[in-house]
Amino acid sequence: MAVERTLSIIKPDAVEKNHIGAVLALIEAAGLEIKAMRMVHLSRPQAEGFYAVHRERPFFGELVEFMTRGPVVISCLEGEGAIAKYRGVMGATDPAKAEDGTIRKLYGSNIGENACHGSDAPETAAFEVGYFFPGYELG
Ligand code: GDP
Repeated sequence: MAVERTLSIIKPDAVEKNHIGAVLALIEAAGLEIKAMRMVHLSRPQAEGFYAVHRERPFFGELVEFMTRGPVVISCLEGEGAIAKYRGVMGATDPAKAEDGTIRKLYGSNIGENACHGSDAPETAAFEVGYFFPGYELG
């Protein structure tokens, strides 16, 4: 399997509840390497640009409101099959449907406030990593 990079965001709900360390521990325990990391309070334009593919979805306004209400921790993860691997570590979008031991099961509240984001495909991963990390920071 190829070595991939993927974008992780620890969302405002998990940051507010002091779960940054616990989430990073699950990421590292899964064998994913943290290549770069930033803690940022996203502006509305930054969040809207990041989630532009969801602009037509009915929850877009709520999603942008949520993602801008407090700081997030953004990281670029690397590893063999990192995109699918991190989706597995996160669990299903709806924490109620996520498997035991996943980030969303442990720390998510509901389908909107679900603790973390992870890229879902190579194309979105390339866009998302580039959105937050210029090439010179990643090497
Ligand atoms: P993901 O790839 O598992 O994050 O899921 P999606 O791409 O379907 O949705 C992106 C994000 O939008 C999710 O992680 C949630 O934070 C949010 N979201 C998805 N569905 C809903 C919903 O029905 N209501 C609200 N408020 N937010 C949602």
